Parts: sequence; C-alpha cells; structure tokens
Amino acid sequence: MRVGQGIDVHAFAAGRKLVIGGVEIPHARGLAGHSDADVLLHAICDALLGAAALGDIGQHYPDSSPQYADIDSRVLLRSTAAKLREMKLKVVNIDATIIAEAPRMAPHVPRMIGNIAADLGIAPSQINIKATTTERLGFVGRDEGIAAMAVALIE
Ligand SMILES: [Zn+2]
Repeated sequence: MRVGQGIDVHAFAAGRKLVIGGVEIPHARGLAGHSDADVLLHAICDALLGAAALGDIGQHYPDSSPQYADIDSRVLLRSTAAKLREMKLKVVNIDATIIAEAPRMAPHVPRMIGNIAADLGIAPSQINIKATTTERLGFVGRDEGIAAMAVALIE
C-alpha cells in the first residue's frame, strides 16, 4: 500500500469557464490556468503520481507545452491512471477537499465523483469529495481563487 497527497490552487479570472471535477459550474468567473484549470483533478493527479513516486503533474504535463493549452484535465487524469496501470498499481481510494468561498459545490459533487470514477476505472464508493470555506480568511476567503487537496491510497 502506498499513499500520496496533492494540493493545487488557481486564481479566479474573468472570461473563463469554472470547471471542477470535470463539471462545468455556472459562476461569474472561472479559474485562470494553462489547461482548463480544474483544480480538483490537478490535486488528484498529484496525489496519484505522488503515491506512485512518479513526480508531479508539472513534470508530466508541463504548462509550457502548447500541447496542454486549454486541455480538458480529465484527459490528464486518464493519462495518470494509465501510468499507474502500467506499473500494476490499483487505486484503493481517494479523499479530496475543495476549498472555496463560492460557489456552492455540494450540488455538483455526485457528478464530479462520477467523472473521476469513470476516468480512473474505479467505483464511486472509492471516492470522497468534500467542500469547505476558510471562513472568509486568506486568499480563498477573499474569493480570489480556489484550492483543492487530495490524498490517494494505491496498492
Ligand atoms: Zn492546477
């Protein structure tokens, strides 16, 4: 058994779609980034890569590469899953937290779990996604961006 953790942060930007866990969430602003800036999927990719001792998402999918411009982060998650499969590693479970002042995440969590389960080829019951605020403290509390943290156990 091996455990990995991942953390990611993206700033809000005007004129961008807000995509979290592969779900497009209606909101006044989206997240800035080279890819679709899916902060949750990036944290999960890093947790999986970390558990497998494969470095981090920036090494595998560099944001300096035009290949990954505006890419759907679910493609990166599926690619990460393939790297683990090549090493005969299986995902046991994932627990993740989205840290945001707004919008409300709860209504979208079941679809996020469905997307992640499909991309990793695991059951929805192996994935837990939580959302919290920072009680108006810090950059998240000032509504400047969204953070996500994830841990993954693999075998
Ligand atoms: Zn990211």
